[in-house]
Amino acid sequence: AKRAGQTYRRWEPALDEQSSGHARLGAEMRVGLDTGQFRVVYQPIVAFPQGRVAAVEALVRWVHPHRGMVSPADFVPVAEQNGLIIELGTWIMRTACRQMARWRAELGADTPDKVSVNVSARQLVRPDFAATVADILAETGLPPRHLAVEVTETAVFEGGQAVTTLHELRKLGVRIALDDFGTGHSSLGLLQTVPVDILKVDKSFVDNVTEAGRHSVIAEALIRISTELGMTAVAEGVETAEQADALHRLGYTLLQGYHFSRPVAEPDFGPRSTATAGVTTAAVTDQGPPR
Ligand code: C2E
Ligand code: MG
Ligand code: MG
Ligand code: MG
Repeated sequence: AKRAGQTYRRWEPALDEQSSGHARLGAEMRVGLDTGQFRVVYQPIVAFPQGRVAAVEALVRWVHPHRGMVSPADFVPVAEQNGLIIELGTWIMRTACRQMARWRAELGADTPDKVSVNVSARQLVRPDFAATVADILAETGLPPRHLAVEVTETAVFEGGQAVTTLHELRKLGVRIALDDFGTGHSSLGLLQTVPVDILKVDKSFVDNVTEAGRHSVIAEALIRISTELGMTAVAEGVETAEQADALHRLGYTLLQGYHFSRPVAEPDFGPRSTATAGVTTAAVTDQGPPR
């Protein structure tokens, strides 16, 4: 940055700080990958009101030796910028598939039907991505129908290789989930062009679903659209029993959120009493380092 006397122009130090901060974080991620600082935790997606865990979403965690728990909201964008997301994402996919295969071997019929893994745009645009997933499935022995990939609208709205990859994954038998649905560009238009099996209705439509008005109208429209199009809808970010009940009345049967469970290292797959789920699982949070 250019110095003007002793003082930086206002925006320069901020920019410098940001890019050197990113560079440092990137270098530390490299070390973190090599020394096993990353973890995968799993958040239940619950069949409501029965209480059975129908699926789990895999979510990455970074247990940094000095910074403590670093949020994926902070390091995933950096990993996308510096390209480390490819290696990290492959590690996450392998870890989640291996865990799911292990659960199936240990728990049999009590295992949730699917593990859902978040995938970045940078991964999707690689022509070898579907082959990488196929290798991981073969290596872990997980049947493809038990895997879903979660992609955002932003990652696929331009079409191209990202959408080609989705078709390839689907041909393998892997399911496609559209994450944070309703918050990106041209959400409804995408449903005409992108192969989608699971619609994850964004938390913003769940937050006010108990109040009459816009949000419940949109939540209601989205369950109808997904049903009509033969897709499965999942409501994200359910935090209260009232929201769960309101979503149930609208026709939602798959719910995910802190009301049922935080993401945890080893979820409890026993059927949860939907009345007490929030209480019994509140103690097992992902605030501290995962086991
Ligand atoms: P997402 O895929 O939409 O995941 C849902 C996020 O909401 C998770 O945050 C989850 O812990 C949080 N959440 C779940 N239920 C509730 C709730 O009831 N209330 C509130 N307030 N939050 C809830 P997390 O784990 O911090 O992840 C944030 C985002 O980072 C994810 O959003 C996803 O976009 C990205 N991410 C996480 N793990 C991965 C990964 O393995 N790979 C990639 N590429 N991205 C990931
Ligand atoms: Mg997700
Ligand atoms: Mg989501
Ligand atoms: Mg979200």
